[in-house]
Amino acid sequence: MIPQLDLQRQHAALREELLGAAARVLGSSRFVLGEEGRALEAEVAELCGTRHAIGVGSGTDALRLALAALEIGPGDEVVTTAFSFIASASAILMAGATPVFADIEADTFAIDPAEVERLLGPRTRAVVPVHLYGHPAALDRLCALARARGLAVIEDAAQAIGATYAGRPVGSWGDLACLSFYPTKNLGACGDAGMILTSRDDLALRLRELRDHGSAERYRHVRLGFCSRLDELQAALLRVKLRRLPAWTEARRRIAERYRELLAEAPLGLPVERPAARHVYHQFTVRSSQRDLLAKRLAEAGVGTAVHYPLPIPGQPIFERGSRGAADWPRAWQAAREVLSLPCFPELADAEVEAVGRAVRRALE
Ligand SMILES: *Cc1c(COP(=O)(O)O)cnc(C)c1O
Repeated sequence: MIPQLDLQRQHAALREELLGAAARVLGSSRFVLGEEGRALEAEVAELCGTRHAIGVGSGTDALRLALAALEIGPGDEVVTTAFSFIASASAILMAGATPVFADIEADTFAIDPAEVERLLGPRTRAVVPVHLYGHPAALDRLCALARARGLAVIEDAAQAIGATYAGRPVGSWGDLACLSFYPTKNLGACGDAGMILTSRDDLALRLRELRDHGSAERYRHVRLGFCSRLDELQAALLRVKLRRLPAWTEARRRIAERYRELLAEAPLGLPVERPAARHVYHQFTVRSSQRDLLAKRLAEAGVGTAVHYPLPIPGQPIFERGSRGAADWPRAWQAAREVLSLPCFPELADAEVEAVGRAVRRALE
């Protein structure tokens, strides 16, 4: 059996180091807002090319706090993609604002800047592009569009830590960017954790207050805040893994390159990597008009796959316009019918990559 993702391999290889890091935190018995968190913030800010990084409880909270820092709320519209994980849009709803969904580019699966432009209105305050599967959205066009109209850009970089666009790290393009360290992400904690990136000093200060009950100093609360901190235990574990991230990203890219060779002749859509983009392959997601049959045959052949995502966000029951979805967002709906993510994680063995390639070709015969 070749799993779509196997986190046990990663944790077996790092077991002693991770246990050592956890022991260090237990020894200090400082669990919230301490040295490990500060060190992780500095290391991630350095990697992503921003002045500040603010650790929070999850990627979803990162998005909520980012919107709160920009004081986006009732009456405001935020344009985001129709095709992503639900949190990209639910965070906007939780802020009291209205998500406005843009269709995607057929090749990158990321938000289409032309659609964003069409949907901007007098109430629009921000744009939330998602770097889906680890491929950067068209950040140059999106940021230019937003700047020209005085709108904020909040990058949802939950799937794309380490990716670059035009040579610049994702996360450094927007006013704010959000990372998730959910266990299955390219840099995954052993629990929930997230981070917000920014180079704006004013937003960084506000975010540090927002994550800690709106307090700038102890027991003095200057704004309505959240209780959402990245704890010391997760920070220490993440620091162990962060040192491996560049090598892990290279491993993901090598797997993707080999899949491309193995599947070059197969009747499938392969992921694109735009010339300006450096993809980090959070997922290696193919397209097939026979997706469900392909997944079934691969499962029978012992190859795990996953569908990210079977239903576009505006089609989710919490959004009422679902019935009109396919007409309004045809590319998102087509993607939801066709996408299939193959096994792609750093510990996947060469022989397994070859076996997956063979199994996919055979399943499509
Ligand atoms: C994982 C993810 C999130 C949410 O992160 P959590 O840490 O699970 O809250 C948001 N957006 C995208 C695109 C994600 O993949």
